[in-house]
Amino acid sequence: MLFGRDKKNPIKIADKKAEKWTYATCGYCSVGCSIEIGTNAEGKVVGSRGVGGADVNRGKLCVKGIFEHELFESSGRGDKPLIRESIHQGYRETNWDDAAKTMVSEINRIQETYGRDSFAVVSTGQLLTEEFYTLGKLTRGVIGTNNYDGNTTLCMASAVSGYKRSFGSDGPPGCYEDFEHTECLMAWGSNLPEQHPIIYWRLQESREKRDFPLIVVDPRVTMLAQKADIHLAITPGTDVVLQNALMYVILDEGLEDREYIEANTVGLEQLEAEVQKYDPTSAAAICGIDEDTIRNVARIYAKAGSAMSIWTMGINQSTHGSDGVVGINNLNLITGNVGKEGGTSLSITGQCNAMGTREWSSCSGLPGYRYLENEQDRKDIGEFWNVDPEFFPKKRGLAQTDIFPAIETGQIKGLWLIATNPMTSMPNTERTRKILEKLDFLVVQDSYADVETTQYANLYLPAATWAEKEGVFTNTERRVNIVRKVTDAPGDSKSDFDIFNLLAKYFSGSEKMTFPDKPEGAFEEMKALSKGRLADISGMNHDLIEKQRGIQWPYTEEQSNKGELPPSGGKRLYTEPGTFSHADGMAKLIPLPFIDNNEVPDDKFPFWLNTGRLVEHFHTRTKTGKLGNTNKYSPIPFMEINPDAAKDLGVDQGEYVRCVSRRGDAIVMAMLTQRVPKNMVFIPFHYFDCVNRLTLGLLDPHSRQPAYKQSAVTIEILEDQQAAAQLSMEMRRF
Ligand code: SF4
Repeated sequence: MLFGRDKKNPIKIADKKAEKWTYATCGYCSVGCSIEIGTNAEGKVVGSRGVGGADVNRGKLCVKGIFEHELFESSGRGDKPLIRESIHQGYRETNWDDAAKTMVSEINRIQETYGRDSFAVVSTGQLLTEEFYTLGKLTRGVIGTNNYDGNTTLCMASAVSGYKRSFGSDGPPGCYEDFEHTECLMAWGSNLPEQHPIIYWRLQESREKRDFPLIVVDPRVTMLAQKADIHLAITPGTDVVLQNALMYVILDEGLEDREYIEANTVGLEQLEAEVQKYDPTSAAAICGIDEDTIRNVARIYAKAGSAMSIWTMGINQSTHGSDGVVGINNLNLITGNVGKEGGTSLSITGQCNAMGTREWSSCSGLPGYRYLENEQDRKDIGEFWNVDPEFFPKKRGLAQTDIFPAIETGQIKGLWLIATNPMTSMPNTERTRKILEKLDFLVVQDSYADVETTQYANLYLPAATWAEKEGVFTNTERRVNIVRKVTDAPGDSKSDFDIFNLLAKYFSGSEKMTFPDKPEGAFEEMKALSKGRLADISGMNHDLIEKQRGIQWPYTEEQSNKGELPPSGGKRLYTEPGTFSHADGMAKLIPLPFIDNNEVPDDKFPFWLNTGRLVEHFHTRTKTGKLGNTNKYSPIPFMEINPDAAKDLGVDQGEYVRCVSRRGDAIVMAMLTQRVPKNMVFIPFHYFDCVNRLTLGLLDPHSRQPAYKQSAVTIEILEDQQAAAQLSMEMRRF
């Protein structure tokens, strides 16, 4: 007789008849999972699977990765360049040579009429690193505009800025293996199970083997907060106050690591003077965490043999984003928790290759973490590219969030958007719409012709996506991993690498430079430029990267020649005393006064509006909104609202409501949940014409990253539920 489980039919996974599996790195988030894509005897893509021998994911994938192979047949792909004279006309198909000639001649016209910086370029965190490098070469060495940035300003700029201010360079110093060593983990505004599911699995596995305290700082009771030992439901935008209060307790009770501070840091006196103003009693009134809990957390963190902090958008997307990162670094520096096993400041990045753009795209500087402000860096790159160093600007230009206002004021006339969708991703959608309409010339280069921003373009360039091309990504823990080509791109679309090379041919001045015709050629240039620097990749090559399932930088030519195994290359940065990237080798302890400048709830707009991600969707749903197996979990926009608030308003579960801010309104379905407090609502950021119609997006003064998570809204009841449902259904992509 069969009982219980034995009685059930076993789960059967359909045999997709894959004959060949091709290695790649997942093209969604920055966890960097190794994935294999199966093709059948006819060469048709039929399945995805995790790679067992890969250290990052050890065979696992999240829901996005499991269905990633379905991307290749998703709707809305572009297959021909499209052109039109004005955005009020329809597009017509064109060929690549005519598209490239038109684009180059429009850029030349705009620059000759209005100046070199009147044409701007905004790229992404989605391209392969060799593509970023080539785009940087074209933009910095040929086009010459200084208004060149990536959409990573919307997600990672505060982490970059905070690392630079504290440590002298960008580059996360820790790795996932730190979960296996740490004695305390504090997660700041990071909901790992939904945002970075496989990192969450690594963390959870470590906690199951060896329990250690998990402290989560988040205004919402996120999935990670539900797993925490201590959840600090902080008042939005006040992280710096909590950080200062924690340091107050640590310094007041003598829990700091004096030996580490002396060997590695400068600025303790100034930091001490500032944190004196944040005793737990005063701080509690601002940040909403009671004083006993502040003391308790400070003691747990400081007394742990090693402690680490991770963070994501809850810190970065704030008017104090860069300061929040510096605050985390301060906390780890005074407790001796940078550069050791289980002790680190690890920013969990967003897009699959946000790190690749930071390292090699030249967006905010020059390749390999070089600075435009540094004469030697300009000279070195000028010589390597055969460009007069005087052609390079001497300081970085506008960030994406400043480029858009500069279009508004007429300073910028032309824009090239590459794999980014500001109509959905930028705060204040209505303002963004008017800004794009003002442009003389807009080029959208994207895998999808139906991406919202294409409505405002004069020229659309169809690009290959992810594993339709070859090259590398860098993940959150500095691991360089490879994407091999699985299948051809549709129609006449080209890889971004080939598009940049084609354009280079039509610009005068590019003849003196070399543009390698294969990604490996660009990778060799990057290797040469990386030698002896922090992000040294000179010991790597594409085949070795695949063999090792990714290699963390730094991995030097010397290590490679000695036959050292790549994983020994660069698990952690700053492991030796006094080796930080500031000129004196010391990390900076930086005082952080709190400035209260957010939009906050009031009588008219009584709710905090919080925004964030869902596990089944990626960014603006350009991809996941097209796949039934991901879109089905949340096909329409919704809003989390506390049941007590809903009761006061007379809103029932599943009813549509109108959410209104000072910028605009959005129709969303109410989901009643205790995950949000009574004075807060949460709306996922993935949907077009939704939450970013409401957000204000004040900018961080250092990083220029917008504060998406601190706006104020009110909720209105909708009488006509049927009309609202119809509107919502129209927003489904699939
Ligand atoms: Fe891809 Fe990120 Fe999911 Fe891994 S966790 S499968 S990298 S989306």
